[in-house]
Amino acid sequence: MKKLFVSLIALLFVLLITITSAARENIYTINDVTIVFSETSSLSDEQKALISHLIINGTDNSSTTYNLMCTLFGHNTATENISVIEHCVNDTPPRCRKTVQDVTMCTRCEELIDTHIITSYYINCCE
Ligand SMILES: [Zn+2]
Ligand SMILES: [Zn+2]
Repeated sequence: MKKLFVSLIALLFVLLITITSAARENIYTINDVTIVFSETSSLSDEQKALISHLIINGTDNSSTTYNLMCTLFGHNTATENISVIEHCVNDTPPRCRKTVQDVTMCTRCEELIDTHIITSYYINCCE
């Protein structure tokens, strides 16, 4: 019984660490752009990193992975609500622009299908 209790505590500890590290993975910064994913995002860290890369650097056709499943049955899409913060786009404050948008990607071939901007405004972020 005591052994069970100890392993339960250990499990709880592992879960806690996983949750804390998962929360950190919701923010990606590449160059002068920060992408913030929702806390409840169902995407994996790899998919978030990929979306961040696609949004910031654009789609690179040469690296598009060919997926037979998508060709036959269509894309397996997932839509995610994200915030994109472009830093220091203005010379005077508020200097940074925040854009809230829905992005739709295929979780199988990892192609960025669609982006839909909901709102865009300037924020006080960088000095
Ligand atoms: Zn696909
Ligand atoms: Zn900023």
